[in-house]
Amino acid sequence: MKRVLLLTTGGTISCGTSVQGLSPQLAGAEFLPYLSLPADIVLEVKDIFQLDSTNLQPAHWETIAEVVSEGIKQYDGVVIAHGTDTMAYTSSMLSYLFYGMNKPVVLTGSQLPISENGSDGPGNLQDAVLTAASGRAGVFVAFSGRIFYGARVHKAFTKKFDAFISPNAPQAGEVENHQKVIWRDEVVPCCMVEQRNVPSLNSPVLFLKLVPGMKAGLLSSVFSAGYRGLVLEAFGAGNVPFLGEDLVEEIRRISAQFPVVVCTQCQYGGVDLSLYSTGALALEAGAIPAGDMTPEAVYTKLIWALGQTERVSLIRRMFETVYCNEMTKE
Ligand code: ASP
Repeated sequence: MKRVLLLTTGGTISCGTSVQGLSPQLAGAEFLPYLSLPADIVLEVKDIFQLDSTNLQPAHWETIAEVVSEGIKQYDGVVIAHGTDTMAYTSSMLSYLFYGMNKPVVLTGSQLPISENGSDGPGNLQDAVLTAASGRAGVFVAFSGRIFYGARVHKAFTKKFDAFISPNAPQAGEVENHQKVIWRDEVVPCCMVEQRNVPSLNSPVLFLKLVPGMKAGLLSSVFSAGYRGLVLEAFGAGNVPFLGEDLVEEIRRISAQFPVVVCTQCQYGGVDLSLYSTGALALEAGAIPAGDMTPEAVYTKLIWALGQTERVSLIRRMFETVYCNEMTKE
C-alpha cells in the first residue's frame, strides 16, 4: 500500500469561471472523481491555498515547504497541485530545500480547469500521483506525460498542453498512458535526508535582464533600494558591456559586498564567462557564473543561499556546487 498526500495551492487546475476570468475555486477533494488510481494507492488531500500562482511569493514557498516537510514524514510521497505560471520557481525552490531527501515530491497543474471537457488536468494529476507513489526520491514536475527534474524545468508555452521544457537536461522520465512510470536513468544515489529545516526565504533578489544601453548606475541603485542580491541575465555566453555604460566596473564595486550572479538570455547552452573578454572581465570583477541553470533555478538558488549566509565567498561556493541536478557539472 502506498500513501500519497495531495496538497492544493490553486492554479488553473482548480479554476472556475468568474466575472474577472478564471479564478481558483475547487477544493482538492473535488479533484478525486477525475482520478482512477490503482487499488494500492491511497490518496489524502490537504488544501493549502486557493491562489493563481502569479500571486505566490517567497513567503508562500516557506508555507508550502513546511507542509511538505510534515507530509513526507507521514506519507510515501507528496503531490502539489499548482498553477503553471510560477510552477518552475516553486519546484526549483523545493528542489534546493529538499535536496537529498528520501521521498518523492511531485508538482503538477494544467492548462485547462480540471472540470472542463478535454482538460489536461485529470491526466496530469493521475501522472503526478503515480510518480509520487513510485518511490523515486526527489522533487519533480509531472506534466503532459513527462517527468522533469524540479530545478530544470521552464514554462515555455502559454497555452499548449505540453507547456514545459527542460532546456539543458534530459527529462527524468515519463508516464505511459497515465498508468506506468518509466524513469530514464538510474536512481541517483543521494544522502537520503529525512528532515531539514526550512531557511527564511525573505532576502530580496532582483532578476534583471540586460539590454543594450542599460545605465551602469542602475546596478548599485538596486542595493540602495534594499535588494541583497542580483541576478543579471546577460547576453550570449554571459557577456556584459565594459565600453560606454561600464557594467563590469559596477559589478566590481558591488560584488565585494553583494552577490552578482550572471546567467544568460539564451535558453540553451548556459554561460561560459571565459569565452569572450566581455565575460572574462565580468568574471574577474567578481561575477558569479550560473552555468546552464534556468532563470527560475538561478533566482531561487540565490534566495535560498542568502537565507543561509550573506558572505559572497560562501554564496560563490554554493553556486559552484550542484545540489539537486540544477546545473550541469563542468
Ligand atoms: N495563471 C495560472 C496560474 O499559474 C495558470 C495555470 O495554472 O496554468 O495559477
